[in-house]
Amino acid sequence: MTRKEAIKFLSEYQINAISKSEKMNILLDFWYSYESDPEYLNKELISYLSTHDFDDIEFYSDFFDPVVILGLKHKNSILNNKFLAKNVSIIRSAEIKVVGDEIDQKVKCPCCYFYTLSSKSNYDVCAICYWEDDGSHEEQYSVANQNSLSAYRKNFFLKQDKTQLEEKYIFSKP
Ligand SMILES: [Zn+2]
Repeated sequence: MTRKEAIKFLSEYQINAISKSEKMNILLDFWYSYESDPEYLNKELISYLSTHDFDDIEFYSDFFDPVVILGLKHKNSILNNKFLAKNVSIIRSAEIKVVGDEIDQKVKCPCCYFYTLSSKSNYDVCAICYWEDDGSHEEQYSVANQNSLSAYRKNFFLKQDKTQLEEKYIFSKP
């Protein structure tokens, strides 16, 4: 199975396992994502998203499922092939191998060194360590992160087991 297929498979499985409020949160975050991956959404949905705001909806409906799947795909795109294979294998009750470029177009987070960002120094927030990539250097104080990069990293890895993270996410040495 290719990496792309595995991410899609897992995301389509997960949407049935999460609550309506989780779906609402993802919907809010990915309301405008149709601009980045429009071919996945139907015309009615794209038209709705481009003419409405999140505030316009009162209740979650299945109509929005494709947006939530886009969000889940985005979240799952930082998982490594081994971890994807493990999860797909459990769901399918069969040994599945996942192949494909893990890094693809992702950029390494300057703080935790996992591949989580879509571009460099563009104020992306890392989904693993939550460092906001404002382009600041190691010892420079970052207002957005209320710390320097080196101190923030040190704090993060005091609380997080790097080996456990490496089992799940895409990592390369600094
Ligand atoms: Zn990070």
